[in-house]
Amino acid sequence: MVAFPTETVYGLGADALNADAVRRIFEAKGRPGDNPLIVHISALDQLGPLISVEPSPMARALMDACWPGPMTLIFPKSDAVPMAVTAGLDTVAVRFPAHPAARALIDAASRPIAAPSANRSGRPSPTTARHVLEDMDGRVPMILDGGPCEVGLESTVIDMTGDVPRILRPGGVTPETIERVCGGVRVDDAVMRPLKEGERPRSPGMKYRHYAPRGELTIVQGGAEAVVSKISDLYDNALAAGNSPLILALEGHLPAYGGRRALSLGRDAAGMAHALFNALRDADALGADALFSEAVPADGVGLAVMNRLGRAAAFNVVDA
Ligand code: AMP
Ligand code: MG
Repeated sequence: MVAFPTETVYGLGADALNADAVRRIFEAKGRPGDNPLIVHISALDQLGPLISVEPSPMARALMDACWPGPMTLIFPKSDAVPMAVTAGLDTVAVRFPAHPAARALIDAASRPIAAPSANRSGRPSPTTARHVLEDMDGRVPMILDGGPCEVGLESTVIDMTGDVPRILRPGGVTPETIERVCGGVRVDDAVMRPLKEGERPRSPGMKYRHYAPRGELTIVQGGAEAVVSKISDLYDNALAAGNSPLILALEGHLPAYGGRRALSLGRDAAGMAHALFNALRDADALGADALFSEAVPADGVGLAVMNRLGRAAAFNVVDA
């Protein structure tokens, strides 16, 4: 097992074709056994042996346009992929990462590497080697430090087993890009709402409450001025009630919050993707128990940001 950087988040990898190695990933993370792993490759010719059908023309077009990069495609699996990797599913999720250290690791191993995010289960995904160390010290033998991750959110997971690509988890590759390449795209309806009692989502990871800070998080949406004013009120009320509030805001809005305690989420949706998980970890480190975050429009990479933020807040969204 080795933790390694990718352009999305840090991964915890092991030989994808070795069921024992893969089981150790689940143990180290405390990951539920029904949550499948993504298999990482460093060359297109590693894909064929993992899957049991030829990729469709649409899948080929997506691979040409977005690989290497923050995109995971789901195909029917071959017998070479252990059930431990796919958590018993008959499909396998495959990604070709762009990060040079990730590619060098897979090349050196000369085999595909199964890897989920390198956090303890239930914690925000790690975007620096320090985050990995915080969660996994003593549980993994090695962490490769490649600096902060560029994208900062996990890959876009796309189910390619139907007629139209279906986004199961939004990420750095946007619905707009997929639509342009494939002429159509569907966003799974579980992306922007809480799951119902007992619901089994197409992306098993969606049923777990990831990305949850310890404090209660409220998202405030609306026009910029109204949002700043609403969040300021909520903050002041929380403070008056004896809580320890914290604001998560776009860089440009920070001065408008005056002396209130606030963390920057960067300049725009891409900045927010990059900053979000780090900010959620910082919020815990600061002991914040009432968090108020600005929203961004749910288009482009904003869909991925609002999916993660929404799940961190248990979809507690108020209008300013
Ligand atoms: P992680 O890399 O920790 O973000 O976890 C990988 C995620 O990919 C899981 O939570 C799943 O939701 C998703 N995934 C992996 N394999 C499959 C699959 N065969 N079908 C649907 N979703 C998958
Ligand atoms: Mg994860």
